[in-house]
Amino acid sequence: MQRTLPLYRELGISEKLLSKADKILEDISERFKAIDDIAEYNQIKVLNAFRKARVSEGCLYGSTGYGYNDLGREKLEEVYSYIFKTEDALVRPQITCGTHALALALMSNLRPGDELLCPAGKPYDTLDEVIGIRPSKGSLAEYGITYRQVDLLPDGTFDYDSIKAAISDKTRLVEIQRSRGYATRPTFSVERIGELISFIKEIKSDVICMVDNCYGEFVQTIEPGEAGADMVVGSLIKNPGGGLSPIGGYIAGTAECVEQASCRLTSPGLGKEVGASLNAMRSMFQGLFLAPVITSGALKSAIFASYMLEDMGVRVFPRASEERYDIIQEAILEKPERLIAFCKGIQSAAPVDSFVTPEPWDMPGYDDEVIMAAGAFISGSSIELSADGPLRSPYSVYFQGGLTWPHGKAGILSACQCLLDTE
Ligand SMILES: *Cc1c(COP(=O)(O)O)cnc(C)c1O
Repeated sequence: MQRTLPLYRELGISEKLLSKADKILEDISERFKAIDDIAEYNQIKVLNAFRKARVSEGCLYGSTGYGYNDLGREKLEEVYSYIFKTEDALVRPQITCGTHALALALMSNLRPGDELLCPAGKPYDTLDEVIGIRPSKGSLAEYGITYRQVDLLPDGTFDYDSIKAAISDKTRLVEIQRSRGYATRPTFSVERIGELISFIKEIKSDVICMVDNCYGEFVQTIEPGEAGADMVVGSLIKNPGGGLSPIGGYIAGTAECVEQASCRLTSPGLGKEVGASLNAMRSMFQGLFLAPVITSGALKSAIFASYMLEDMGVRVFPRASEERYDIIQEAILEKPERLIAFCKGIQSAAPVDSFVTPEPWDMPGYDDEVIMAAGAFISGSSIELSADGPLRSPYSVYFQGGLTWPHGKAGILSACQCLLDTE
């Protein structure tokens, strides 16, 4: 530690803050050990999926043009289906981001006259315009797909009575978001999601249960497909991309749901058969292989951040001692200046663009201005050390990522130091 001190000082971090960090890390060593155990489990799970699919060197090269018989693409989708324990998977660089993956899953599996139900409160902000909660071109609402929502009870649990009442003949698809997103509510464990899915299937067995798995991958040893989800959807710019995937999204699910999605992504009649993988395959495979350990570093960073901030009197969700089901840490900073200071601290500890100052901006798909700190190798990647938050009360910052635990630690120390310096 003593040896690292001058380096931390160069980063602008005080000795006082560092000794507090040392003390906290000593106290939470058991929790870090538990995270390492999960990473080990998931690493072997991923390794075995690669072996079972017989991934070969040829899979790492891409294809061009139509991308017929793209070996790597087919094997990658097979590997995803093994890891997520689903019948099939669609994993493509042509899926541009998480929102696109979710929109694709919804739009391809719903038809005019169907109803979408969100039984766990309003979904992620960017789905407002997909669903048509806020009117938008090409929304589900424009295609005559209606929407119903059941909010969580005040204690953050599912409102089973109202969910039962909300399920009708029209209900075709249920969307459950695992992570908290930009809402102040608990993240659901895969086990709790499984209970909700069982409840819904008992009422109406043919309802498609879809889980927005963003930020949840590899945090637990099981994934939502093992808890009955028909579709598990996420972004490769988050956990499963392992920081290396340059783009992409995935839909892992039943053969039927995945086929529907593929026919919407490409074209009816073409489905999964086309879609050149260009030069993305090597990074998509390698990123997936690294993802369990990358995710564990992000998880340690989140837990460390929560203890540091709680110690500074900041309210955090989840609370420091709470169990984790995603890599997001929310801290309620209460003042816009504090939100901005925190993000500046993260930015200045980034490997790329450390010298720039993040400013709030009107991001596409979001209702309020958002400030984002991300000095990432992959633009906008939030498995890399990043922090963001909408400029609205209570000025929560959402912190996530860190490709390595030591970097996550440095970033949090830098953010905490910036917060202290604004007092
Ligand atoms: C990030 C995220 C999304 C959207 O993904 P983008 O890649 O930002 O479009 C959707 N849902 C949740 C829970 C997320 O965390």
